[in-house]
Amino acid sequence: MRAPAKLYLASSNAGKLREFRALARVFAPGVALELELLPGFESLPSFEEAAATFAENALGKVLHYSRLRDGLVFADDSGLVVPALGGAPGVHSARYAGAEASNERRIQKLLSALRGKTGVERAAHFVCAIALAEDGRAVAVVTGRADGKILEAPRGSGGFGYDPVFYFPALGKTFAEMAPEEKNLHSHRGQAFRKLLQLFA
Ligand code: IMP
Repeated sequence: MRAPAKLYLASSNAGKLREFRALARVFAPGVALELELLPGFESLPSFEEAAATFAENALGKVLHYSRLRDGLVFADDSGLVVPALGGAPGVHSARYAGAEASNERRIQKLLSALRGKTGVERAAHFVCAIALAEDGRAVAVVTGRADGKILEAPRGSGGFGYDPVFYFPALGKTFAEMAPEEKNLHSHRGQAFRKLLQLFA
Protein backbone atom coordinates (compact mmCIF):
# COMPACT_ATOMS: atom_id res chain seq x y z
CA MET A 1 0.00 0.00 0.00
CA ARG A 2 1.43 3.42 -0.90
CA ALA A 3 1.84 5.83 1.98
CA PRO A 4 -1.21 8.10 2.13
CA ALA A 5 -0.66 11.80 2.66
CA LYS A 6 -2.66 11.71 5.87
CA LEU A 7 -4.01 9.41 8.55
CA TYR A 8 -6.66 10.77 10.91
CA LEU A 9 -6.72 9.67 14.54
CA ALA A 10 -10.27 9.18 15.87
CA SER A 11 -9.65 10.95 19.17
CA SER A 12 -9.59 14.41 20.68
CA ASN A 13 -6.48 13.57 22.69
CA ALA A 14 -3.58 15.75 21.51
CA GLY A 15 -1.19 13.81 23.77
CA LYS A 16 -2.06 10.58 22.01
CA LEU A 17 -1.47 12.24 18.63
CA ARG A 18 1.96 13.46 19.81
CA GLU A 19 2.83 9.92 20.89
CA PHE A 20 1.81 8.42 17.52
CA ARG A 21 3.81 11.11 15.68
CA ALA A 22 6.87 10.25 17.77
CA LEU A 23 6.34 6.55 16.99
CA ALA A 24 6.09 7.32 13.26
CA ARG A 25 9.40 9.21 13.39
CA VAL A 26 11.08 6.23 15.08
CA PHE A 27 9.52 3.35 13.16
CA ALA A 28 9.00 4.87 9.71
CA PRO A 29 11.52 7.69 9.33
CA GLY A 30 11.48 7.51 5.54
CA VAL A 31 7.71 7.42 5.10
CA ALA A 32 6.01 10.75 4.36
CA LEU A 33 3.01 10.36 6.60
CA GLU A 34 1.03 13.17 8.18
CA LEU A 35 -0.93 12.32 11.31
CA GLU A 36 -3.80 14.56 12.38
CA LEU A 37 -6.74 14.44 14.78
CA LEU A 38 -10.02 13.70 13.03
CA PRO A 39 -11.52 17.14 12.26
CA GLY A 40 -14.42 18.05 14.53
CA PHE A 41 -14.11 14.81 16.54
CA GLU A 42 -15.81 16.32 19.61
CA SER A 43 -18.92 17.28 17.68
CA LEU A 44 -19.46 13.85 16.10
CA PRO A 45 -21.83 11.26 17.63
CA SER A 46 -19.64 9.25 20.00
CA PHE A 47 -18.96 5.53 19.82
CA GLU A 48 -19.52 3.38 22.90
CA GLU A 49 -16.58 1.03 23.54
CA ALA A 50 -18.57 -1.82 25.05
CA ALA A 51 -17.07 -4.90 23.33
CA ALA A 52 -15.25 -7.73 25.09
CA THR A 53 -12.02 -7.44 23.09
CA PHE A 54 -9.58 -4.62 22.32
CA ALA A 55 -9.69 -5.45 18.60
CA GLU A 56 -13.47 -5.23 18.43
CA ASN A 57 -13.50 -1.90 20.27
CA ALA A 58 -10.81 -0.39 18.03
CA LEU A 59 -12.48 -1.66 14.86
CA GLY A 60 -15.96 -0.60 15.97
CA LYS A 61 -14.67 2.87 16.76
CA VAL A 62 -12.86 3.34 13.47
CA LEU A 63 -15.72 1.99 11.32
CA HIS A 64 -18.08 4.37 13.10
CA TYR A 65 -15.92 7.49 12.62
CA SER A 66 -14.78 6.66 9.09
CA ARG A 67 -18.43 6.69 8.02
CA LEU A 68 -18.69 10.27 9.27
CA ARG A 69 -15.48 11.71 7.80
CA ASP A 70 -13.47 11.28 4.58
CA GLY A 71 -9.99 9.80 4.51
CA LEU A 72 -8.12 7.00 6.24
CA VAL A 73 -9.02 6.93 9.92
CA PHE A 74 -7.28 5.00 12.70
CA ALA A 75 -8.18 4.39 16.33
CA ASP A 76 -6.75 2.38 19.20
CA ASP A 77 -7.93 0.55 22.26
CA SER A 78 -5.59 -0.66 24.96
CA GLY A 79 -5.37 -1.95 28.48
CA LEU A 80 -3.72 -4.20 31.01
CA VAL A 81 -4.47 -7.94 31.18
CA VAL A 82 -3.72 -10.02 34.27
CA PRO A 83 -4.42 -13.72 33.54
CA ALA A 84 -4.56 -14.61 37.27
CA LEU A 85 -7.46 -12.14 37.58
CA GLY A 86 -9.37 -13.71 34.69
CA GLY A 87 -7.99 -11.09 32.29
CA ALA A 88 -9.00 -8.06 34.43
CA PRO A 89 -8.81 -5.13 34.21
CA GLY A 90 -8.69 -5.81 30.45
CA VAL A 91 -11.04 -3.74 28.29
CA HIS A 92 -12.24 -2.06 31.50
CA SER A 93 -8.73 -0.77 32.36
CA ALA A 94 -9.70 2.91 32.19
CA ARG A 95 -12.74 2.42 34.44
CA TYR A 96 -11.45 -0.39 36.66
CA ALA A 97 -12.09 1.56 39.89
CA GLY A 98 -15.02 3.62 38.57
CA ALA A 99 -15.29 6.23 35.83
CA GLU A 100 -14.00 9.10 37.99
CA ALA A 101 -11.24 7.24 39.84
CA SER A 102 -7.60 8.39 39.71
CA ASN A 103 -4.67 6.32 38.43
CA GLU A 104 -3.63 5.83 42.07
CA ARG A 105 -7.05 4.35 42.95
CA ARG A 106 -6.88 1.99 39.97
CA ILE A 107 -3.41 0.87 40.98
CA GLN A 108 -4.51 0.34 44.60
CA LYS A 109 -7.45 -1.77 43.43
CA LEU A 110 -5.13 -3.88 41.26
CA LEU A 111 -2.60 -4.36 44.07
CA SER A 112 -5.41 -5.38 46.48
CA ALA A 113 -6.74 -7.92 43.98
CA LEU A 114 -3.24 -9.41 43.68
CA ARG A 115 -2.46 -9.44 47.42
CA GLY A 116 -0.95 -12.78 48.42
CA LYS A 117 -0.27 -13.76 44.81
CA THR A 118 3.33 -14.48 43.86
CA GLY A 119 5.45 -15.62 40.90
CA VAL A 120 3.58 -16.36 37.69
CA GLU A 121 0.33 -15.24 39.30
CA ARG A 122 1.65 -11.67 39.00
CA ALA A 123 2.30 -12.01 35.24
CA ALA A 124 0.60 -9.31 33.19
CA HIS A 125 0.63 -7.86 29.71
CA PHE A 126 -0.44 -4.64 28.07
CA VAL A 127 -2.34 -4.99 24.81
CA CYS A 128 -2.99 -2.38 22.16
CA ALA A 129 -5.22 -2.86 19.13
CA ILE A 130 -5.14 -0.31 16.31
CA ALA A 131 -7.69 -0.39 13.49
CA LEU A 132 -7.61 1.47 10.19
CA ALA A 133 -10.67 2.12 8.02
CA GLU A 134 -11.97 4.26 5.20
CA ASP A 135 -15.62 5.00 4.35
CA GLY A 136 -16.87 2.42 6.84
CA ARG A 137 -14.65 -0.35 5.48
CA ALA A 138 -11.94 -2.05 7.53
CA VAL A 139 -8.44 -1.77 6.02
CA ALA A 140 -6.43 -3.40 8.85
CA VAL A 141 -6.44 -4.41 12.50
CA VAL A 142 -3.09 -4.89 14.24
CA THR A 143 -2.22 -5.66 17.83
CA GLY A 144 0.86 -5.24 20.00
CA ARG A 145 1.73 -6.66 23.37
CA ALA A 146 4.24 -5.98 26.16
CA ASP A 147 4.87 -8.70 28.74
CA GLY A 148 5.78 -8.06 32.35
CA LYS A 149 4.65 -8.50 35.91
CA ILE A 150 2.85 -6.45 38.54
CA LEU A 151 5.07 -5.24 41.39
CA GLU A 152 3.84 -5.03 44.98
CA ALA A 153 4.39 -1.26 45.13
CA PRO A 154 4.69 1.52 42.52
CA ARG A 155 8.11 2.55 41.16
CA GLY A 156 8.95 5.58 39.00
CA SER A 157 7.20 8.80 38.09
CA GLY A 158 6.96 8.73 34.29
CA GLY A 159 4.25 7.37 32.02
CA PHE A 160 0.60 7.13 33.03
CA GLY A 161 -2.05 4.64 34.12
CA TYR A 162 -0.64 1.37 35.43
CA ASP A 163 2.98 2.15 34.39
CA PRO A 164 4.41 2.47 37.95
CA VAL A 165 3.47 -1.11 38.85
CA PHE A 166 4.22 -2.69 35.45
CA TYR A 167 7.71 -4.18 35.65
CA PHE A 168 9.27 -4.97 32.27
CA PRO A 169 11.88 -7.72 32.84
CA ALA A 170 13.53 -7.25 29.45
CA LEU A 171 14.89 -3.86 30.65
CA GLY A 172 14.75 -4.45 34.42
CA LYS A 173 12.50 -1.47 35.19
CA THR A 174 8.90 -0.36 35.28
CA PHE A 175 7.34 1.52 32.38
CA ALA A 176 7.21 4.54 34.73
CA GLU A 177 11.01 4.37 35.14
CA MET A 178 11.60 4.64 31.39
CA ALA A 179 12.10 7.75 29.27
CA PRO A 180 9.19 8.16 26.82
CA GLU A 181 11.39 7.14 23.84
CA GLU A 182 12.46 4.00 25.65
CA LYS A 183 8.89 3.03 26.53
CA ASN A 184 7.81 3.71 22.93
CA LEU A 185 10.35 1.20 21.61
CA HIS A 186 8.97 -1.59 23.80
CA SER A 187 5.36 -0.73 24.53
CA HIS A 188 2.27 -2.48 23.23
CA ARG A 189 1.29 0.77 21.42
CA GLY A 190 4.73 1.02 19.84
CA GLN A 191 4.56 -2.60 18.67
CA ALA A 192 1.07 -2.22 17.23
CA PHE A 193 1.80 1.06 15.46
CA ARG A 194 5.00 -0.36 14.02
CA LYS A 195 2.89 -3.12 12.41
CA LEU A 196 0.41 -0.59 11.06
CA LEU A 197 3.21 1.46 9.51
CA GLN A 198 4.55 -1.65 7.78
CA LEU A 199 1.43 -1.48 5.59
CA PHE A 200 2.91 1.62 3.99
CA ALA A 201 6.54 0.48 3.74
P1 IMP B 1 -7.71 3.66 26.15
O1 IMP B 1 -6.96 2.82 25.19
O2 IMP B 1 -7.53 5.12 25.89
O3 IMP B 1 -9.14 3.22 26.25
O4 IMP B 1 -7.07 3.46 27.61
C1 IMP B 1 -7.16 2.27 28.29
C2 IMP B 1 -6.60 2.32 29.69
O5 IMP B 1 -5.64 1.27 29.78
C3 IMP B 1 -5.86 3.57 30.12
O6 IMP B 1 -6.71 4.50 30.73
C4 IMP B 1 -4.87 3.01 31.15
O7 IMP B 1 -5.50 2.85 32.39
C5 IMP B 1 -4.55 1.66 30.56
N1 IMP B 1 -3.36 1.72 29.70
C6 IMP B 1 -3.31 1.60 28.36
N2 IMP B 1 -2.05 1.73 27.91
C7 IMP B 1 -1.30 1.97 28.99
C8 IMP B 1 0.10 2.24 29.17
O8 IMP B 1 0.92 2.31 28.23
N3 IMP B 1 0.50 2.43 30.43
C9 IMP B 1 -0.34 2.38 31.50
N4 IMP B 1 -1.64 2.17 31.40
C10 IMP B 1 -2.13 1.97 30.15
